[in-house]
Amino acid sequence: MKFLKQEIYFPIIVLIHLGFWAIDLYMYDGSFVEVSSSTLFFGELNQVKWSNIHRILGEIFSSWVVTVFAFNFLMATRARWVERIFGGLDKMYLIHRRSGVIAVTLLIAHFITVPRDLTEFTLGKPLGFYAFVLILIGVVLSAAPVFKKKLPYHKWINIHRLMGIFYVMGVVHGLMVNSLIRELPITRIYVFGMSAVGIVAWVYRAFLFRIVNPTMEYVVTGNVAKGNGITEIELQSQGSGMKYHAGQFAFFKFPDLNKKEQHPFTISSHPDAETIRVTVKDLGDYTNKMADSISVGDKALVEGPYGQFSSEFITEESQVWVAGGIGITPFLALLHELGDKQVHLFWCVSNQTEAVYTHEIQEYADRHKNFTYTVWSSSERGFISAQDIYKPQTKSAYMLCGPAALKTSIRKGLIKLGVSKGLIYEEEFAFR
Ligand SMILES: Cc1cc2nc3c(=O)[nH]c(=O)nc-3n(C[C@H](O)[C@H](O)[C@H](O)COP(=O)(O)OP(=O)(O)OC[C@H]3O[C@@H](n4cnc5c(N)ncnc54)[C@H](O)[C@@H]3O)c2cc1C
Repeated sequence: MKFLKQEIYFPIIVLIHLGFWAIDLYMYDGSFVEVSSSTLFFGELNQVKWSNIHRILGEIFSSWVVTVFAFNFLMATRARWVERIFGGLDKMYLIHRRSGVIAVTLLIAHFITVPRDLTEFTLGKPLGFYAFVLILIGVVLSAAPVFKKKLPYHKWINIHRLMGIFYVMGVVHGLMVNSLIRELPITRIYVFGMSAVGIVAWVYRAFLFRIVNPTMEYVVTGNVAKGNGITEIELQSQGSGMKYHAGQFAFFKFPDLNKKEQHPFTISSHPDAETIRVTVKDLGDYTNKMADSISVGDKALVEGPYGQFSSEFITEESQVWVAGGIGITPFLALLHELGDKQVHLFWCVSNQTEAVYTHEIQEYADRHKNFTYTVWSSSERGFISAQDIYKPQTKSAYMLCGPAALKTSIRKGLIKLGVSKGLIYEEEFAFR
């Protein structure tokens, strides 16, 4: 499965960016002069040529911020073609999150280094300052662990949606202030072109997305408590239903539980089934209420499918599946598509009682001689390691779904054992 990983994405962005700047500066006639400017920490610049380090660095940083955010808004559109490039919405949001932190670091660098023109006042100056402060607050609220814990997702997402407005303020600032970028033809087209892309993407996501992607209506036909805080919800489509691949996920809204919130859950049933099933662990405010507050006959609105953690995209004949706790859900769907594949599933749980789908899994093991599984109870055997799952003789794919700590330790261990990164597939269960 080929897609744009962050290890490639970030260097590409840097190279394109610096490439445009380098070509433009090489060809520039040098007419830009700081008539009278000041920098935050480095003093005043009077009658200094364009080639001063503050001007060039300050503007490289700012144009970088603009383009990084433009790509981030593009990712937030959830467009299928963008998702395909990044190998799934979950991976895309991971890059989106990291890019946000990088962009804000560059923004601070811009604020510190760029010379401020003292010759005239323009509205662009305060606009830029307020955009800087607001973007900074927006990214800190998204990335700082303390806010991740304290600020509920639905409140955070409402604040996060305002980032588009702050971005527009930043772009207008760039258009209004005196800058070298405006004199560099390639960089100018690139930066303002990307700004337009970013703004259009944000407008689309904020105002048009719901119209272009109406949610599909389903009705709850079952709500079963499986024990250990796990609830299984079955849904029947009220229309033609969602077309999805085994292992994919969708966003679910249950208006009787909460009219606004929409949560991502993997579809743990197979596309051939008449109904769809989600299997949910009570891990927070919303999921804690699902067992008691969702009843048969309730409406559900579904948006999707998304994700590439699926046999449609992962095709190796020998596979090792590692599920941590509720991370079993995509594998429950993928079990239906074993075919001739050699698969061993490790389901890691704290204790055996948590493994509430053992019967269902055993049925597949009985029918498919190529499928085997282990319920790995950490209370009995300790945490699972890469060594425990490694298959040295075959070129196997390793599919990991579960808590971040489990996936990270297995991934690192497998790489140490010589498994190529391209054979390790992970599903993220968190967007923030
Ligand atoms: C691709 C994907 C597939 C998933 N599949 C399953 C599954 O099959 N079964 C299962 O039990 N869980 C699944 N999850 C996790 C599930 O979405 C969260 O546990 C749930 O949304 C938590 O909501 P809460 O309000 O109860 O918990 P909270 O404590 O409020 O949230 C815990 C964390 O869940 C995430 N989250 C919360 N609300 C949302 C939201 N509206 N949209 C996106 N993320 C949110 C955030 O990272 C948040 O920090 C999946 C998550 C993702 C990203």
